[in-house]
Amino acid sequence: MTARNQLPIVVVGAGSAGVVVASRLAEDPSISVLLLESGSVLGGSSLRNYMVGMTGMSDDYEWDRDYGCSGWNWKNASSTFSAMPDMLHDVQPNEAGQVDSALVEAAVHAGAPRIAQLARDAYSSEGAGYCSLTLNNGVRHSVVETYFDPLGNRANFAVRMNAVVDSVVMDGSRAVGVRLTGGEHIEARGVVVCAGALATPVLLRRSNINRPGIGIGLQDHPSIAITLALRQPQQSAIRIGANVRTSSQKGNADIHVLSLNETDESGKFGALIAGVMHVRSRGEVKFDPATGTGVAVFNSLSDERDKAAMRDAARCVYELARSHSVSSIADAVLSDADGTSARWLGDASDSEIDDWALRHVGAYSHAASSCAMGKSRDEMAVVNERAEVIGYENLWLCDASIFPTLPRANTHLPVVMVANRVSEMLRETLSESR
Ligand SMILES: Cc1cc2nc3c(=O)[nH]c(=O)nc-3n(C[C@H](O)[C@H](O)[C@H](O)COP(=O)(O)OP(=O)(O)OC[C@H]3O[C@@H](n4cnc5c(N)ncnc54)[C@H](O)[C@@H]3O)c2cc1C
Repeated sequence: MTARNQLPIVVVGAGSAGVVVASRLAEDPSISVLLLESGSVLGGSSLRNYMVGMTGMSDDYEWDRDYGCSGWNWKNASSTFSAMPDMLHDVQPNEAGQVDSALVEAAVHAGAPRIAQLARDAYSSEGAGYCSLTLNNGVRHSVVETYFDPLGNRANFAVRMNAVVDSVVMDGSRAVGVRLTGGEHIEARGVVVCAGALATPVLLRRSNINRPGIGIGLQDHPSIAITLALRQPQQSAIRIGANVRTSSQKGNADIHVLSLNETDESGKFGALIAGVMHVRSRGEVKFDPATGTGVAVFNSLSDERDKAAMRDAARCVYELARSHSVSSIADAVLSDADGTSARWLGDASDSEIDDWALRHVGAYSHAASSCAMGKSRDEMAVVNERAEVIGYENLWLCDASIFPTLPRANTHLPVVMVANRVSEMLRETLSESR
């Protein structure tokens, strides 16, 4: 029988977090790592996201102050962001699409400061500028190119694709392996679940892990879109290339407006997308024990504060859409897919806007916080500040599910930051137990 500390650390899920965790652990030749991915590619959501890179605001990371997660604060987050390999390309005005340029000009004309690197500015609350994208020489730069490829072949690192993990195998409260859907059992020294905010809670439930907070607290940034019927259809190399950050009446830097240069391949339509970034509404990943599957219920805009911020976001995006620079590229500005002119938004009442927002609210694909980090004595926390599942041994979580709350940013870079910090903690823990 293999000694337990010679068994691999099994990392479940090769997405933004899993690739970082597996690669960073494998940098240490004394740690054997096995990365399991259900699909046929490495990279998870980082392979199909819109590549917008943002760190968010400094205040978003005061998790010690706000949630009792000791050691998690902006100082530590900021130094990890700075130490990460630079994955970002700052979009230049000559690379931007027509909707990008129109949005920036509209916001600057309305008084927003022009900020060159909004992505990396965690302090100014308001501004407009071109995005920074996870792009290198025009090609997507995911965690695979940044973390996995540079490692090369290593005797201590193995990857298995098309390996769908059914559950974590437990010996009492200790994780000792994983079971694949075909029934295969893989023994492990420990298991790090990085299956993403929607799949991680389901996997824990299937493994009979018992924490009341599993699945509870799910968030996403709610968004609404104003569609632009473009005068001159144009293919743009960049899908989203500009961002405006502004504040609602009761918030601070809690609204983003992004430009979508084309909504589909025809190039006939673009959009301005307004998102509420400081989210209070919470939902749940509901588990069905009969089928072993889960359903995500976001409850977007269920909190009155989010609804009020969305009203301000709707009015803000409408004002930007009717500006001279946007009107000069769009024949029509629409508030839904049926072709309704957005003009009604100009003098809409609060309740009309609420009604419209509730009917059309979309997710930003930033699902998070379904297995939140918190104090060990907080019964709704699922992991402690070292990402260990509370009450269990050799079982860690690392992906967007462990955020106590969403930052005011697109989530890929924040996930990568968290994965870097958790990897360092894991390496410390594993070297102590050698
Ligand atoms: C369409 C879209 C657009 C987005 N745009 C942006 C953007 O522009 N900027 C930005 O910052 N963020 C964006 N995001 C969000 C960002 O990409 C995600 O928040 C981030 O990648 C999440 O990382 P993760 O590691 O938590 O999960 P993921 O990257 O989703 O990784 C989870 C991995 O686990 C695997 N897995 C799941 N279950 C199992 C199982 N049972 N067994 C084995 N493997 C399993 C999955 O296949 C996947 O590879 C976008 C997301 C989407 C979907």
